Amino acid sequence: MDLSLTEAERDLAELCRQFATKEIARRAPAAWERAECPTDLLREMGQLGLLGMLIPEEWGGIGMSTVGFVAAMEQIGLADQSVAAAWQAHVTIGSLPLYLFGNDTQRERWLRPLAEGHVLGAFGLTEPEAGSDARNITTRAERREGGWLINGRKAFISNAGTDMSFGVTLLARTEPAEGGAPRFGSFVVEKDTPGFSMGPKLRGIGWRGLDTRELYFDDVWVPDEHLIGDPDLGMGQFLATLEVGRISIAALSLSLTQAVLDLAIEYAQRRQQFGRPISQFQAVQFKLADIATELEAARWLTYRAAYLRDTGQPFLKEASMAKLKASRVATAAASEAVQIHGGVGYMLDSAVARFYCDAKVLEIGEGTNEIQHVVIARALGC
Ligand SMILES: Cc1cc2nc3c(=O)[nH]c(=O)nc-3n(C[C@H](O)[C@H](O)[C@H](O)COP(=O)(O)OP(=O)(O)OC[C@H]3O[C@@H](n4cnc5c(N)ncnc54)[C@H](O)[C@@H]3O)c2cc1C
Repeated sequence: MDLSLTEAERDLAELCRQFATKEIARRAPAAWERAECPTDLLREMGQLGLLGMLIPEEWGGIGMSTVGFVAAMEQIGLADQSVAAAWQAHVTIGSLPLYLFGNDTQRERWLRPLAEGHVLGAFGLTEPEAGSDARNITTRAERREGGWLINGRKAFISNAGTDMSFGVTLLARTEPAEGGAPRFGSFVVEKDTPGFSMGPKLRGIGWRGLDTRELYFDDVWVPDEHLIGDPDLGMGQFLATLEVGRISIAALSLSLTQAVLDLAIEYAQRRQQFGRPISQFQAVQFKLADIATELEAARWLTYRAAYLRDTGQPFLKEASMAKLKASRVATAAASEAVQIHGGVGYMLDSAVARFYCDAKVLEIGEGTNEIQHVVIARALGC
């Protein structure tokens, strides 16, 4: 297994490194402070082709490999996790359902503007009473003459409420109201559709720049062309999309871990106590060595999951393992990095504190870590 980057993947990572250090690192902290989604940065990333990362050129993307996407994420997330979170949600769960399961007309109409970076994509699965238990969703799409009538509510949906959002691809029950075996279909609902509304931007511990909201659907009528694929196969489509999303969250976790490791090393070499830099104390050195070692282990799991996807092999278990390991490493590393910074690291003005706040959600989003355990255990035959 060769995990070295190709020339195209290296070039992409370098492009992302330059944009991240020149633009994101400079502008994103203010967006974090204002708790606003920095769509100006996302639009510029679109102009660089970064919003169509995993979509072939035929549909407006750059057709990058998953390995290349992970390498690009390592650079973007190093600069700011909110921008990276919005970006990855768009690239994976926000765009892939249309690419993987839409027909050519739907790809032309909705996927191309997403991939070319004109609009931002959103994925509507979670509901107030259905998070981990996705099959418990109650949003319903009822068959009507020439289309579908959608009623329900979605919770914690990212990227649907910005000035760059196009709407949402959502999952709804499609079995008749009178009952029958549960069935699910996925539908595109554009933002100005009558009956579609949303709540205010939610306030998280971290990812303060990410736009996450509740969405409401009251007698929203969409024509048949808005149904993606088979009206009964939506759940499988959404779960398949989440597999890629998990590699993406793992990559985001790598970038956070690298960021806090870099900050902790730099601070430990600069901060003097007892007449010497704290980096000379073995207790501090061992923390740094542990973070670096765990990061490397998580990195290999993540690149391997990406490699399996790129080579057409099953990657369900490996994506869950990568997400589980990398997110745990990230939260532990962020905590230790704050510890190394002492009181300075506790203050929200410090970069390490912001990364600490951003870390926790990595263990929750796109399937909690408990659900990753369930997926892995099932793959082991339990
Ligand atoms: C910032 C943010 C952005 C998000 N963006 C999106 C988005 O764009 N689109 C979208 O659809 N969703 C999104 N989500 C929702 C996210 O996917 C859910 O929060 C997540 O899947 C968990 O669901 P829940 O919050 O309802 O928790 P619950 O499912 O209620 O879980 C609560 C606790 O119970 C545990 N638990 C549940 N079931 C089991 C089990 N079988 N075994 C063991 N433990 C279990 C969980 O692990 C967790 O610890 C976002 C969430 C956040 C915080």
